[in-house]
Amino acid sequence: MTHKEYCKEYYLKNREIRLAKCKERYKNKKEGIDLYYKKYREDNKKIVIDTNRKCYLKNKEVVIKKAIEYVKQNQDKHKKYYLIRLKAKQESNDKTVIKKNILKMLDSQNGLCKTCGCDISEKYSIDHIVSLSKGGAHSISNIQLLCVTCNRRKGKKSQEEFLKYI
Ligand SMILES: [Zn+2]
Repeated sequence: MTHKEYCKEYYLKNREIRLAKCKERYKNKKEGIDLYYKKYREDNKKIVIDTNRKCYLKNKEVVIKKAIEYVKQNQDKHKKYYLIRLKAKQESNDKTVIKKNILKMLDSQNGLCKTCGCDISEKYSIDHIVSLSKGGAHSISNIQLLCVTCNRRKGKKSQEEFLKYI
């Protein structure tokens, strides 16, 4: 047996044990590690948002492809979510979500995304601060304008949850 073969065999023999040890170490330090990253995200919000945006733009095609794949595989879930939103919009008597008010809001936000501050004067995305699927109202008072990336990442999260998440 060559030295290389011996090493390989030794590695394979002890692989499981080593992996288990690594896992155990992570478990013991998990809270510390998670806290460290949470604090880093809080202290470096702008950098994190910027990095995420760059990463998204760089991998846009892959991200979109994966998203389409995900929707295909979770069609029932999405259909349900879509129907809840549609119902909430249709049942709403509030007629404040109209182009005029949206443009006024865009103006009051200085044409910037409410979360990351990028320019959304060309393309903006309407976000329900409290998601419709969580009982939020389809009303201008429950709306903010975000960039498409932020809105997609926010999803059903509340603004507070989202700010913690990024
Ligand atoms: Zn944004």
